[in-house]
Amino acid sequence: MSTDEKQTSSAFLPVNTFDLVVFGGTGDLARRKLIPALYHRFCDGQISGDSRIIGTSRSERTDSAYAKQMHKAYKEFSSGNDYDDSQWDEFSNKLKYVGLDVGDKAADWKALGKALSKDKDRVRVFYLAVPPKLFVPICNGLKAAGLVTENARVVLEKPLGTDHASAQATNAGVGAVFDENKIYRIDHYLGKETVQNLLVLRFGNILLEPLWSNRAIDHIEITVAESIGVGGRGAYYDTAGALRDMVQNHLLQLLCLTAMETPASLDADDVRTEKLKVLRALRPITKDVASYVTVRGQYARGKVDDEVMPDYLTDVGVDFSETETFVAIKAHIDNWRWAGVPIYIRTGKRMASRRSEIVIQFKPVPHSVFGPTKLNPNKLVIRLQPDEAVNLWMEIKEPGAGGLRLKTLPLNLSYADNFAVRYPDAYERLLMDVVRGNLSLFMRGDEVEAAWKWVDEIIKSWADSGQRLELYQAGQDGPDESHDMLAKDGNKWV
Ligand code: NAP
Repeated sequence: MSTDEKQTSSAFLPVNTFDLVVFGGTGDLARRKLIPALYHRFCDGQISGDSRIIGTSRSERTDSAYAKQMHKAYKEFSSGNDYDDSQWDEFSNKLKYVGLDVGDKAADWKALGKALSKDKDRVRVFYLAVPPKLFVPICNGLKAAGLVTENARVVLEKPLGTDHASAQATNAGVGAVFDENKIYRIDHYLGKETVQNLLVLRFGNILLEPLWSNRAIDHIEITVAESIGVGGRGAYYDTAGALRDMVQNHLLQLLCLTAMETPASLDADDVRTEKLKVLRALRPITKDVASYVTVRGQYARGKVDDEVMPDYLTDVGVDFSETETFVAIKAHIDNWRWAGVPIYIRTGKRMASRRSEIVIQFKPVPHSVFGPTKLNPNKLVIRLQPDEAVNLWMEIKEPGAGGLRLKTLPLNLSYADNFAVRYPDAYERLLMDVVRGNLSLFMRGDEVEAAWKWVDEIIKSWADSGQRLELYQAGQDGPDESHDMLAKDGNKWV
């Protein structure tokens, strides 16, 4: 497709005037993601009127010092293509700052109340980009200060608990202040363009649905691979591990969107109810089977892109750790559609490359009329990042004389080939959805709890069975045992 034919512009509908309070307004997430996302939405004309963005944290600073700090962060974290300074001055007029220690029971919330005193009816968003132990105290503080208005809503960042019990406690504590339809639990994966495209691919095309089950699908693979290590998050990561940090949220969300039934509509509760049914149908992984259907790994020293990387222990600065940086699971969904179809999921750090992909491996044709010629079964590869694309691998005849030769080639639906637009960061989409009151791309409390229930059982099974931690070299796609797990079924990771 020529550049002229590509889709080159997107229309952005402005959202209503809002106040957004970012608790943790000086933190890494705010500096790297939230403020840049809001700036981009502003530049595209989506943030209208006199909307206000109020950062808070414990230290004191003026509005202008805060704006300067955020500008520096924007310059630092925006990629070359994204960086555009021209409207920053106008945007920075919206940035305010209030110092507040939300962990201090005697904290005075009056300054925040004052910053929010004008136009109390407008949409009011409280974004909690702080350690999760502060979620409930902040909600209680907001309520006591009379700041939870009719149009107020709260955004919770991951991790949403460390197990089922803590997730339940958070849901109960936050739910005592905000109704469920005012709680936005972020999984930023759901804001990615290609993840939303999954819904369109599945439910906007008639072709796939008749094949989307155990009748035609042999197995499914979901991979979320990172080439980076734990970075500056070592202290947190060592208490969490890949299962809690990635599988409980991102991978299970991808699995739900891949496997769920067609929702009655795209309304939040219709979609979320279908996802919940998938989570409830996941077969529990008990201690008797854990070693056959799960692999835990940790990266050792090795090379990524020809650069030598230290092992996990060095990265975290500890002498010993049993925390997994890689996990592979053979999951089953026990319902009519998916009975007998293994769903292999894996995620890891310091793997060969950064890659998120869903592979739908179809069954072979029931009978080949091509004699001994090898036929490769069809495969649908949905690449979420990088190089977003959908590839449907088909058998075709290789042109030319000399007998019937078959070739496996992809029907290629590449984003880059078809669209010349900038893909907004997931946070841009999600933040605007919060202001609009659209909950479709956010998790409901019962979804989060159901995901934890399944993950808790795996953690318990690992502990009860003393499941080994397998080492893999940095730059390898996980330990050999992960490949062996699929090989036993006659399959291999794509
Ligand atoms: P961070 O860099 O450590 O920032 C934490 C923020 O919370 C700072 O602004 C800190 O400011 C503030 N804070 C801490 N205690 C406070 C208190 N008692 N009262 C008021 N403010 C307080 O953490 P982060 O990386 O931004 O992450 C924030 C949350 O988002 C965490 O739950 C994290 O797991 C989650 N998250 C982060 C990312 C990411 O990319 N960074 C991605 C997904 C989820 P002061 O210390 O100055 O008070």
